[in-house]
Amino acid sequence: MPKTLMVEARTGNTPEEVKKLARIEGVDPNKLRTRVAEGRVVIARNIARLDRVKLVGIGEGLRTKVNVNLGTSGTVVDVEMEIEKAKIAVKYGADTVMDLSIGGDLDSIRRTIMQAAEPLPIGTVPTYQAWIEGVKRYGESIPEDWFLKVVEKHLRDGVDFMTIHAALTKELVKKAVKSKRVEPIVSRGGALIAAWILENDEENPYYKNWDYILELFAEYDAVISLGDSLRPGALVDAHDELHLEELMVNAKLVSRAREAGVQVMVEGPGHMALDRIVFDIKLVKSITKGAPYYVLGPLVTDVAAGYDHIAAAIGAAIAGAAGADFLCYLTPAEHLSLPNPEQVKEGLIAFRIAAHAADIVKLGAKALEWDVRMSIARAKLDWQQMFDLAIDPERAKSIYTQFGVRTKACNMCGQYCAFLVLGKFLEKRRQPVLEETIREYLSRRPSQTLFP
Ligand code: SF4
Repeated sequence: MPKTLMVEARTGNTPEEVKKLARIEGVDPNKLRTRVAEGRVVIARNIARLDRVKLVGIGEGLRTKVNVNLGTSGTVVDVEMEIEKAKIAVKYGADTVMDLSIGGDLDSIRRTIMQAAEPLPIGTVPTYQAWIEGVKRYGESIPEDWFLKVVEKHLRDGVDFMTIHAALTKELVKKAVKSKRVEPIVSRGGALIAAWILENDEENPYYKNWDYILELFAEYDAVISLGDSLRPGALVDAHDELHLEELMVNAKLVSRAREAGVQVMVEGPGHMALDRIVFDIKLVKSITKGAPYYVLGPLVTDVAAGYDHIAAAIGAAIAGAAGADFLCYLTPAEHLSLPNPEQVKEGLIAFRIAAHAADIVKLGAKALEWDVRMSIARAKLDWQQMFDLAIDPERAKSIYTQFGVRTKACNMCGQYCAFLVLGKFLEKRRQPVLEETIREYLSRRPSQTLFP
């Protein structure tokens, strides 16, 4: 067995990267080592480019991370625009980027996006390239080892984590196409693999060759993100038989990955009503024995077209607070179009807010410190400090100045600002009272998860 990070962590020694990550996250290094060893935390990495990528840990006890999806579509291939999106992801605080390109020269676009997104870890979905280029090369009968070759190519390029649609077995595909689901398969990669399975009447190549996939990932010590091809694409499909059966297969694949010393996380929905989210997180965490959980949204309503980043950020905040570790953003263009750069920014900011709201619940005082500093700046009408602390300083400042700066307060109340009206009565007692209130509040908020 190659000495992967997970294997090394199991020896009882704390790898240097784990020590460094513990410092970044402010957690105990030995606790973090144990979580890496047990597969409850993964570090998005590939030994082919460790020196160019920042350390990003995903899992229990760590800050909730946010991923930005970008990449060309089948009909819109504008590499410059994708580079701009990658730069927006870096600038506005994404933790990772996934290149989901399906149009143009896929190898070249992937390598370009990887560079533009440095130092963020990069994820891909190799099924796309395998199917798109495979069909051009071989027609409908793509040989199964072609799917594996594409995975290997992405690993060689230094891709840090990959969605692998391994749990969509032949049996599940056949059930899905005959099911009463409103939307049988909404996952793009899942649909491509399903088409290959049905066309060739063969087992899923990733599922069939799971041990070989594990060998490949162990060699590069990269992270597998187990795809959820049968995730619900409509509220009414959530937690149906197909969804749960695929989850059970994924849980078994997680165990085998851990036995092989390969870091693995599990992907989740999708669309589900707000009251299903906590149940979903607890179920997945329980049957995967705490594998890092990577959710797409979830969207809590199906009718928010044009505002799906908001519908999904609501779900993401609840999911994160309940224990989801990694949030895949959605943009206002979801279900409508390839997003433009501004929509990428809007989606990312919405999800950073969701992740931070979740962390206030999960991590307690450690996450809340940011809010405390903002509250103090507000109480003091310290605008510069407020902009510096805002999640999007440029937007905060531009709204603040939209009617000019006319008083020490903002233009919502102007001279009738509560802080100005009462200022002279509050001035002397403000600082000590603030400090005491904050100390008291923090002491009442140990870290916790939502609805334990
Ligand atoms: S003017 Fe009104 S909205 Fe603006 S800071 Fe003062 S109280 Fe708040």
